[in-house]
Amino acid sequence: MGTAVLAIGCHPDDLEFMMAGTLFLLKDKGCDIHCMIVANGNCGSLEYDAADLARIRREESQEACAFLGAHFHDSITNDLEVFYEDSQIRKVTAVVREVQPDIVILMSPEDYMEDHMNACRLGVTAVFCRGMPNYETIPPRSAYQKPVAIYHALPYGLRDGLDQVVLPHFYCDISSVIDRKQEMLSKHRCQQAWLDESQGLNSYLATMRSMSQTLSRCSVTALSAGGDSSSAAIAVCRAMMCSASRRGVRIHCRSSRPPMLVRVRSMADRSDPCVVPQRVVRSISRLRHEAGSMLR
Ligand SMILES: [Zn+2]
Repeated sequence: MGTAVLAIGCHPDDLEFMMAGTLFLLKDKGCDIHCMIVANGNCGSLEYDAADLARIRREESQEACAFLGAHFHDSITNDLEVFYEDSQIRKVTAVVREVQPDIVILMSPEDYMEDHMNACRLGVTAVFCRGMPNYETIPPRSAYQKPVAIYHALPYGLRDGLDQVVLPHFYCDISSVIDRKQEMLSKHRCQQAWLDESQGLNSYLATMRSMSQTLSRCSVTALSAGGDSSSAAIAVCRAMMCSASRRGVRIHCRSSRPPMLVRVRSMADRSDPCVVPQRVVRSISRLRHEAGSMLR
């Protein structure tokens, strides 16, 4: 069986904005991709009532997942009802146990929106509980033992709740798949109508590309300092898969976390190279060094 990847977004379209480029790269490398949306998106419109909007957004998410070639996992709650609480942790843990992912990609722990941060916390704890037989999920799913790597996407807008820029540990070069990422995002047609009214035609697509380009300005020098960008991106992708699928790989984890979480890093979709600050160069160099040692 190939490498299984579980991406957990908060609302419909969060995955498309902040993770989809990396997901396409992983898909192209043969990974089995699963997408879960925690909240059903029922508050994201001025036009539809909650029930209709939840139904529409579910259909759009399913279409977007099909375009990615991913498995779709249903939401568990309404918008603004994403809480770090017992039943939601058990429901997300059930999905983790069903998928048994090698890699989990989550929302950023720092974000402008509480729903997003709570979705992230639910995912972290769900992964933590995956191997505990005494922890019962909703619906019941058996615990399993397997290493997993957690990666956090950047927050929407690339800033935390205090408007501070959030820098990732590394970047995935998604230039080759940026058009597919945009196409996937465009499946969320009801969001286009809503955002167009307030921000202009196709603004949500432009916003996504703009964030990717901003990240590229933060990243690419790193790659040019080390040679060609595509090989660095591939190294990152291979490292993501290796970190989870190879047994006996050197474990990197935060000291406060148990070693069952193999690796917790943040990553970013970025495209279109330009100039990058020096400290990012150092960060990418370190990543490439780590990736190299993991692949040996
Ligand atoms: Zn969201």
